[in-house]
Amino acid sequence: MMGWRGVVEEYRDLLPVEGAREVVTLLEGNTPLIPSRRRGLYLKYEGANPTGSFKDRGMALAMTMALSRGARAVVCASTGNTSASAAAYAARAGLGCLVIVPAGQVAAGKLAQARAYGAQVLESEGGFDDAQALVRELAAREPRLELVNSLNPYRTPGQMTAAFEICDVLGRAPDLVILPVGNAANIVAYWRGFVRYSQHRRITTLPRMIGVQARGAAPLVLGRPVRPETAATAIRIGRPVNADKALAAVRESGGAVIAVEEWEIEEAARQLAREGVFAEPASAASVAGYTRLLEAGYVRAKDLVVCVLTGNGLKDPDYAIRYGSEVRAFDGGPEALLAEVRGWLDGSV
Ligand SMILES: *Cc1c(COP(=O)(O)O)cnc(C)c1O
Repeated sequence: MMGWRGVVEEYRDLLPVEGAREVVTLLEGNTPLIPSRRRGLYLKYEGANPTGSFKDRGMALAMTMALSRGARAVVCASTGNTSASAAAYAARAGLGCLVIVPAGQVAAGKLAQARAYGAQVLESEGGFDDAQALVRELAAREPRLELVNSLNPYRTPGQMTAAFEICDVLGRAPDLVILPVGNAANIVAYWRGFVRYSQHRRITTLPRMIGVQARGAAPLVLGRPVRPETAATAIRIGRPVNADKALAAVRESGGAVIAVEEWEIEEAARQLAREGVFAEPASAASVAGYTRLLEAGYVRAKDLVVCVLTGNGLKDPDYAIRYGSEVRAFDGGPEALLAEVRGWLDGSV
C-alpha cells in the first residue's frame, strides 16, 4: 500500500529534515483544490487536514524535529488551531503538550480538540499576544520544552508544502493567491514555497500575494499594533510576530494587504457554504477579499486565483449559526409533512 505519505515524506527533498529519525505524521496535506462556482477561482480547502486546519503542515515537521532532538513536550500559545494541531501531533509522537489560549476567545471546536487529544490547556486572561510572550519565555528557560508557535523554524517550511501542492495540481503558479493573515506566518510560507518551486524550475511565474485582515484586527494595514477585535478568532491578533517578513513577501510579490468588514466575512462564509464549502470565518476572509478586489477591478477575468480556506467550518459552529438556515419545530404526521414539503418545493424549485 502506497498512498499519500504526508507532507514531510512527499516533499522531503525541499524541506530541512536533516537528522530526522522518525517522521511524525497524520498524513496531512494533499488537500482539495476545489474549483469555485465563480469562474477562475479555486479554493484550497485546508479544512481537510487531519485536525481541520493548515497548521498540521508545519506541525508535522516541527514535531518530527522536536522528537529528533529529544524534547519531552511541546508548548504553544494559540488562538485555537495551533493548539489543536500541536495537541494531535504531540499525542501522535508520544510527547507532552501544553497550550495557553486566550480565555473566552477560542472557538468551541478547537478547544474541544485540544482537550480530546489530551493537552494541558491553560486559559490566560490576557489576549493571544500576551500568551505568546509568556510561552516564548517559558521555552527559553526550559530546554525540555519545544516551542511550536510560528516562531519555530520548522513551521514555515512545512507550510510551504501547500504552495507546492497548488502548483502540482494546476501545472503552473496562480496569478493571485489570497489568504487571511493573523500572526502572518502562512503568507510568508506560501511566498517562500512559490519562490522555491520557481528556483527548482517547477513553475515559471510567481503569484501576487494578497493578505486579508479583519478591519478590527488589521495591524499590517494600519502599520501599527492594535487591540484586536473580530469574530474571526483565528486572525484576532494585534501584534503579528512575522509582520516584517510578511510585508516583505507581499511587496516582493507585487501584492497587497487589505482589510475587510465583519459583514463581508459573514457574507463570504455564507456564499461558500451555499456552494457546499464549509469554512471557518477567518478562512472566509480570503473570499471576502477576493470579492472586494473583483469589484474594484483589481482581479481581472483572465486571472487564475486561489483563495486559501485555512480552517474547517466545524471549528466554529457558533459562527455558522449566524448565517445558517433556520431550524423549525415540527410535530405533525406524514400528511402535514407532505403538505409542508410540497409547499416548499413549489415555492423554491
Ligand atoms: C492560524 C490561522 C490563520 C492565520 O495564519 P497566520 O500564519 O497566523 O497568519 C488563519 N486562518 C486560520 C483558520 C488559522 O488557523
